Amino acid sequence: MGFCLFDNIAVAAAHALEAHGLSRVAIIDFDVHHGNGTEDIFRDEPRVLFCSSFQHPFYPFTGHASDTANLVDVPLGAGAGSAEFRAGVRDHWLPALDAFAPEFLFISAGFDAHVADDMSHLQLTDDDYTWVTQELLALARRHAGGRVLSMLEGGYEQGALARSVVAHMNVLIG
Ligand SMILES: [Zn+2]
Repeated sequence: MGFCLFDNIAVAAAHALEAHGLSRVAIIDFDVHHGNGTEDIFRDEPRVLFCSSFQHPFYPFTGHASDTANLVDVPLGAGAGSAEFRAGVRDHWLPALDAFAPEFLFISAGFDAHVADDMSHLQLTDDDYTWVTQELLALARRHAGGRVLSMLEGGYEQGALARSVVAHMNVLIG
């Protein structure tokens, strides 16, 4: 569902499990839309920890009803910005990720929660994308030998998208 025909990040994560024999992978999704397809696919797959932040309530009107241990939702109300997002990441994603100790980190990198993006009503900034990428890379270095794969998802205001992608990439490439 959503805007995508195929769930690319789910294909990559499944490939890591099935073709490369990994036993624990994490998918991080900070696109403003809930990753309902990813959640559906891995809901009953204990080898995958899925952490998603998203505007709620908002299209596709899912999330925040997770009833399995491998789903960590951070719903954010309209108008939420850096403080709420970072608190959600610190209080919910990072402890769950550290406990899970993934062997590989996959990022659904959507930048449509940016304050300049009219697609949503969240107020993230370029700096928030730098910060969350730093946190995720540090986590990957703690548990996964630094292995991170990031795929571009949403982002509909071209200036903000370009700057946010550069901020994200600059952290990843060191
Ligand atoms: Zn989106």
